[in-house]
Amino acid sequence: MRWWGWGEDGHAVPLSPAAEDLLRDELGADPSVRKPPVPFDQVSLPDPGLPQPVRERLVTALGAEGLRDDRETRIGHAVGRSYPDLVRIRSGDASSAPDAVALPASAELVAAVLGLCAEHRVAVVPFGGGTSVVGGVEPVREGFAGVVSLDLGRLAATVDVDRTSLTARVDAGLLGPELERRLGEEGVTLGHFPQSFEYSTLGGWVATRSAGQASTGYGRIDDLVEAVRCVTPAGELGTKAVPASAAGPSLRELVVGSEGVLGVICDATVRVRPAPAARRYEGWSFTSFAEGCDAFRVMEQAGAAADVNRISDEDETRLTMALASSGGTTEKLGRRYLRMRGHEGGCIAIVGFEGSEEEVEDRRRDAAGLLRAGGAVSLGHRPGEAWHRSRYAAPYLRDDLLDRGVLVDTLETATTWSNLAKLHQAVREALSAALTGRGTQPLVMCHVSHLYPSGASLYFTFLARQEDDALAQWKAAKTAASEAIVATGGTITHHHAIGRDHRRWLAAEDGELGIEVLRAAKERLDPAGIMNPGKLLPD
Ligand SMILES: Cc1cc2nc3c(=O)[nH]c(=O)nc-3n(C[C@H](O)[C@H](O)[C@H](O)COP(=O)(O)OP(=O)(O)OC[C@H]3O[C@@H](n4cnc5c(N)ncnc54)[C@H](O)[C@@H]3O)c2cc1C
Repeated sequence: MRWWGWGEDGHAVPLSPAAEDLLRDELGADPSVRKPPVPFDQVSLPDPGLPQPVRERLVTALGAEGLRDDRETRIGHAVGRSYPDLVRIRSGDASSAPDAVALPASAELVAAVLGLCAEHRVAVVPFGGGTSVVGGVEPVREGFAGVVSLDLGRLAATVDVDRTSLTARVDAGLLGPELERRLGEEGVTLGHFPQSFEYSTLGGWVATRSAGQASTGYGRIDDLVEAVRCVTPAGELGTKAVPASAAGPSLRELVVGSEGVLGVICDATVRVRPAPAARRYEGWSFTSFAEGCDAFRVMEQAGAAADVNRISDEDETRLTMALASSGGTTEKLGRRYLRMRGHEGGCIAIVGFEGSEEEVEDRRRDAAGLLRAGGAVSLGHRPGEAWHRSRYAAPYLRDDLLDRGVLVDTLETATTWSNLAKLHQAVREALSAALTGRGTQPLVMCHVSHLYPSGASLYFTFLARQEDDALAQWKAAKTAASEAIVATGGTITHHHAIGRDHRRWLAAEDGELGIEVLRAAKERLDPAGIMNPGKLLPD
């Protein structure tokens, strides 16, 4: 991963000329602006401050390869991949970098690192792929003798598939593509494909309650975890790999979503499925977002939803169409859409089915009937295939937008079907007001992409011309949207997790007593308070 952005060098996805026009016309962005990241040698990095005896003992435990404190490794672990993270690191600010990065290759070595760090009051930040967008991997050093980032990258050997039970025990440090490749060798899939799939890990997904793009069909990661093994400073917390249990409150649920504040998830047993023989992705259009959401609700409540179900609101559809007008992956979708009678100014939806040929055809037919009854018109398979091909592309575009001085960020929530329209409007208005009021005209757009019988997620993308104080501009927008979410009854996060950025809104979710219960668990498992300080739990 590039230290200042997404992906690797040579994989950039540049903005199209249509996108440049749109940024100028709609945001007032100056096309001549270029704000590239500072050269690597100008990144400002504090000297490593790990006490020498701790460093020596860590090297003894892990070997020289298992403890790194070179400049490149420390900068690579200084921040996650949120907009404010990228603004800071691109400007050369790596002041949050850990003193060292530990790379234990076994759960026993993880335990040794935690023991040493607890003894010397060194903070430990579990680090999977580092794709957190909520400040989840940013080291906090106040009150500690040093900070170690514990990278799971070397705990990535085991993928142990039980074909009979359709489960797999998997090491936490496996990245998405390698995990799917190894499962594919056994003819199965986890079916978990977050947009960050290429650079995020199984352990990170479990620690953040991640939702993949096909989570309506395959389930969120919390549905897919059968058992976890979590090494804490107080010992190992392991849960049994059984399909169900009535043995009291679920400790697995305590670990899932614990964001590294209790311990390190070293492996998990996950539920897998036979790899699909057929995939069918297609496009539909509706006259409005409200009409489309209602049709999706009916389809989901009838048990007929697809595996992937996405509907863009009017603004997201308009932007997609504008970008399509100059060609690119969505061009065909755009042409078809514009030909639609009566749906100009409406909304585009993508649905995708996976399974055996027969299953896909049966499910497709049922869903199509309900979608048509809800007002949808079929756009055929091309828009669906275009979406499927480019489903990991957007994060690459973000780098180019930042280069051009554009604020671009996303946030997400979920609520009941009966509250969905109200929440959609409240967040749109909050973001628009916060960004317009600061001298720039924003673009705010949204889509629904995860369906449940009782409700759905809302995923907002917002763009604005970057102001001189880019971080203050972002904070105002983020705060306004979060306040609107909480006031309108949404969850503060549907899948990005709490991290540092959502902590102040956790009480609105769990209540003060709920937070005390979580704190009590942390005090028992992490008495020295070294595990990922400053995350999940409010101060
Ligand atoms: C471009 C982009 C697209 C994204 N798309 C999605 C999406 O579609 N769906 C989604 O759910 N999220 C998405 N995210 C958010 C992010 O990718 C997820 O939160 C992901 O689960 C993080 O995995 P990771 O391995 O990168 O974890 P990290 O970012 O390294 O860590 C995330 C948190 O988990 C903790 N942690 C990591 N590994 C462990 C472990 N083994 N044990 C204990 N704690 C651990 C960390 O300390 C941190 O608090 C996206 C992010 C980006 C930048």
